[in-house]
Amino acid sequence: MAMSSIPIPSDTFKLGFIGAGKMAESIARGVVTSGVLPPSRIHTAHLGTHRRDAFQSFGISVFDHNHQVVEECDVIIFSVKPQIVKEVVSELRPKLSAKQLLVSVVAGTKLKDLQEWAGHDRFIRVMPNTPAAVGMAASVLGRTATEEDGELIERLFGAIGKVWRANEKLFDAITGLSGSGPAYMFLAIEALADGGVAAGLPRELAKGLAAQTVLGAASMAVNSGKHPAQLKDDVASPGVQQLLAFMSWRKVDFVAP
Ligand code: NAD
Repeated sequence: MAMSSIPIPSDTFKLGFIGAGKMAESIARGVVTSGVLPPSRIHTAHLGTHRRDAFQSFGISVFDHNHQVVEECDVIIFSVKPQIVKEVVSELRPKLSAKQLLVSVVAGTKLKDLQEWAGHDRFIRVMPNTPAAVGMAASVLGRTATEEDGELIERLFGAIGKVWRANEKLFDAITGLSGSGPAYMFLAIEALADGGVAAGLPRELAKGLAAQTVLGAASMAVNSGKHPAQLKDDVASPGVQQLLAFMSWRKVDFVAP
């Protein structure tokens, strides 16, 4: 297997995405918005028009073929669906060189399999989430080929949110919590807003209040140093506890008193 410690040039490296989907777009948007890389140093490929427009709208050039991304880029993020990652990595194998650093954000696909399909040891698993698009990702890095490679990827994902490192055996649990977590929160926001509408609020006001309340609560959970249970008890007066339990995680037919 190819193994190299040739450093990735941190001031000039080009970043490529194989799989121009939602996750790739979120990372690319975050990287561009945070100013870490200009769009001219980011590439992806796709044949359809819809995804092409999404990337081109913030200045990223979109090739027609995956191999063009590999030929152009030093750091390559595989962001295709798990069902096709083996086929996609294996197909690109002849084009990969030891000078390149590979990253996978694919859920449920083990590092050793990725390395085997690519014939390439210099591979890092990362589990990000879509709030990357607004600089608020929660990302976890697995084992890194070299410390230098780890630091580069940590800086890249650090520019679009917070980064942790964890053993790969924890990745399925991480995928369930933070990788998929934004979906639970969107559901909670929708449920809160629906509850507000059911209680008589205009839809726009209810949506705004619900989203801002979740944002504010999350910010307190991150910044206050208090346990979430303590923060919840600080809000809840006697009698309100039942309401919280009643509404928790469900769309409820809220009847205004
Ligand atoms: P997606 O369906 O939006 O993106 C996948 C993209 O790959 C699509 O645009 C598709 O057209 C493209 N594609 C299909 N076949 C291809 C091929 N042969 N070559 C190149 N591109 C091809 O999915 P997504 O939500 O962006 O997820 C992508 C990966 O990111 C998945 O493996 C998922 O596990 C991981 N991930 C997603 C999230 C998330 O919140 N969406 C979070 C963490 C990790």
